[in-house]
Amino acid sequence: MARKTGKKAAAQGSRTPKGYRPSAAELADAPRRARRILAVLKKTHPDATIALRFRDPLELLVATILSAQCTDVRVNLVTRQLFAKYRRAADYAAVDVRELEADIKSTGFFRHKAKNIQSACRDIDRKFAGRVPDTMEELTTLAGVGRKTANVILGNAYGVPGVVTDTHVIRLSRLMALSAHADPVKLEHDLMELIPPKDWTQFSHLMIFHGRRICQARQPACPDCPVRPHCGYGRQAGT
Ligand code: SF4
Repeated sequence: MARKTGKKAAAQGSRTPKGYRPSAAELADAPRRARRILAVLKKTHPDATIALRFRDPLELLVATILSAQCTDVRVNLVTRQLFAKYRRAADYAAVDVRELEADIKSTGFFRHKAKNIQSACRDIDRKFAGRVPDTMEELTTLAGVGRKTANVILGNAYGVPGVVTDTHVIRLSRLMALSAHADPVKLEHDLMELIPPKDWTQFSHLMIFHGRRICQARQPACPDCPVRPHCGYGRQAGT
């Protein structure tokens, strides 16, 4: 789809979303609109999938920890060499943490990330016999793993659906008037009520793709957005 950009899009009414709050009436209508939004997003982004490269749950765990405050492109560059060097949780557990820091330095916040990766891998090695656990309860006992990271691993490495409350998912869900919550856990539960369980993981990918391609934080392209007829903010933008 051709997109209008620059002055034309701005003139057609993507006024700043800052401060937008879904109304009670919009939230009451969310179940009906959520089904339509899901259908439109599937049609608009048929290629939506996880951007991080991985071959097994351990690689996805490490890549997801590295992706905090870092682009997926940068993480994929770093993990290409990292995954050739470290094959098992025991490898990360045994290395001098300063060596691991140097290996992941370009992803930023490398000391904190190295500490979490090593701590998580020590627990995986000792408590879970070297295998990344496959339940929310066990995953969230690992260093650096909250519900968001756990849902990434469950949904993409184990086929257990989960809503990933990525920054795009939170921002777009509020703009689309699917939830009024900024708290990731509350918002996750709102979306779990609105989206069929089988679509939870894919819905997260779709929202991330939509946030990157069309509904960008600086300038949502509402005039060109196929979701607009079903979007709380989009329906009022430019009116
Ligand atoms: S989803 Fe589409 S219509 Fe809604 S705010 Fe984003 S760009 Fe605008």
